[in-house]
Formats: sequence, structure tokens, C-alpha cells
Amino acid sequence: MHEVSLMEQTVDMAVACAIAQGAEKIHAIKLRIGDLSGVIPEAMQFAFSVVTAGTIAEGATLAIESVPARCYCPTCQQEFEPQDVIYACPHCNQLSTEIRQGKELELAAVEVS
Ligand SMILES: [Zn+2]
Repeated sequence: MHEVSLMEQTVDMAVACAIAQGAEKIHAIKLRIGDLSGVIPEAMQFAFSVVTAGTIAEGATLAIESVPARCYCPTCQQEFEPQDVIYACPHCNQLSTEIRQGKELELAAVEVS
């Protein structure tokens, strides 16, 4: 379960960010997870409670915003949302090799006091 190590890195980052602001407690963390990132939000939720135990983020809430996949079709020169694991353009059916969005794993917000 690589979510635990991902969550460890994320919480480390959030804690470092909170300490840099002179905060003593993290109340909420918001993450953005792309649909194509391969990260399972439910596993992240579980990892969160494990990883935050004993840190200033213990008891904090975790909000996960999922980011839909978006590809770019060079033929039509526009972005589209793939409907399947095959990223075919809905206009011309050409396969897209350019993924513009959906692989994110970002710390979007940290609420501290
Ligand atoms: Zn196209």
C-alpha cells in the first residue's frame, strides 16, 4: 500500500508548513488527487489517521478533492475528458498522448492555529 508512504510525505509537508507559520495544531488538510494518479482516496483516508497519530495533525480532518482526467487532442486543438482508460478524442477518435490534468497529488490547503 504505497498510500501510506505518500501520506507520510504529505503530512510531513503539512507539518513543516504549519511549523513555519508558527502554528501548534493542524485542524484540516485538503488534498487534490487526480483520477489518473493511481492513488486511492479511501486508502489515503485510512493512511491519514495512521500517519498523523502523535503529530500536530492528529485528529485533523482530511478533505480530498478529486481532479478529473483531461487530455489534449492536437488534431482538434482542444482538451477533452476521456471516458475510458483509452484516451480517444470524442471528436476525431484519435488517441491522445498528452495528459493535461489528472495525475495530481497536491497539498491544496492546511488549516492551522
Ligand atoms: Zn480530436
